[in-house]
Amino acid sequence: MDFSTDDDETHSDSEYPNYRQYNVEEDYSEETTDETSVSTESTFDLTLPATHSYLGSNLAELIGRTLLEDAVYANVPLLVKQSVVLFPGQTLPMTVNDAQTVDIIKACLEDGRILGVVCLGYDKMVPVGTIAEIYEYLYNDSEHSCCLKAIGRQRFKILRVLRQDTNKILANVRILPEITLGPPFFDERLASLNHLRINPKTEEDFKKQERVENLDAVVTPWPAWVYRQYDPLRLSLKIRQCLQFIQNKGSNIPEDPAHLSFWVAQNLLLDDNERVALLSYNCAISRLQREIKYLVDDKIFICSICDSYIGRQSNMFPMSKEGPQGTYCNPAGTIHEIVTLYHARGLTLSRSPPSVEYTWFPGYAWTVAMCKHCGAYMGWKFTAVESNLRPKAFWGLTRKSLKNKEK
Ligand SMILES: [Zn+2]
Repeated sequence: MDFSTDDDETHSDSEYPNYRQYNVEEDYSEETTDETSVSTESTFDLTLPATHSYLGSNLAELIGRTLLEDAVYANVPLLVKQSVVLFPGQTLPMTVNDAQTVDIIKACLEDGRILGVVCLGYDKMVPVGTIAEIYEYLYNDSEHSCCLKAIGRQRFKILRVLRQDTNKILANVRILPEITLGPPFFDERLASLNHLRINPKTEEDFKKQERVENLDAVVTPWPAWVYRQYDPLRLSLKIRQCLQFIQNKGSNIPEDPAHLSFWVAQNLLLDDNERVALLSYNCAISRLQREIKYLVDDKIFICSICDSYIGRQSNMFPMSKEGPQGTYCNPAGTIHEIVTLYHARGLTLSRSPPSVEYTWFPGYAWTVAMCKHCGAYMGWKFTAVESNLRPKAFWGLTRKSLKNKEK
């Protein structure tokens, strides 16, 4: 399978400097980004990045919604991208310059406005993906290019590739069901205890319910603590407690277990394999159980090339309502997944002056950042253009430039 024309390989000069020829200066993060400036004071409108205004204000809004039923079989065109794992609810902005992909987009606009987004692994596409529904679109006739915004809907499994012509792929897929399980041992509940049951929301509520659950479990094969590990509401509460440091800084963290499980998958720094594993589960309980393991410790982020220290999970903070990790695209068509950190170390900046051109965070100018040790391209430092904007600066580093340090 030839994916050599995938536009992840198409890098614009301004964003992908040849770092060996690049003059760099020392990291000045210590002077310009400190924890206090972010945690206590933010004047930035967090709703702005999610609008992806850099794509322009003249995109046409598309009305209506295509919803495929669970377990249905459908033929959908596929968009296969390196390192792009789309989750339900996630926004996907795109600029498309290559003629073949523009043709795919145009065809799908006439047929339900949906296409399947699939991650390209090392040498082949992974067998699960997510339907993306295009909700805003602009076609540039003179350049035969387009830009669009799409949102992740249902997950699917690829059953068969029906047609493949270089990048044009049509596949028969099965929409994967999202299985929602109620409270554990619901059917074995003792009716005589019903007057003691409450709808638990806080840790104290759950503690109070434990006594009732222990009595319920007497008539089942397992003790109550086993069932508690599969309680989606308990798992959600635990995850939300771990994410308090992000919630406090203005991000909307969903309460519904399924939405929360996708939100965490989208916003944690996870490699492609881990993301695909989370996307493959049909139930929020399995996803939440796996995600808790990533949240109990404060993970250390290291350079994915040379393993040098860059930052920590607790340095993440949201510069968008959608969370601390978001998907953005550049004019060359490259899709970047960016994690925003208020503090980072071991980075150097290019000498080029900060630029506001095509900036993903209105009011902030970007400067290319590289690993101080190996020179790898890591992302950008964003600095406020207006003096009253807070935070004054932050880092936007690409997901693929970082990895979690193994214990
Ligand atoms: Zn490095």
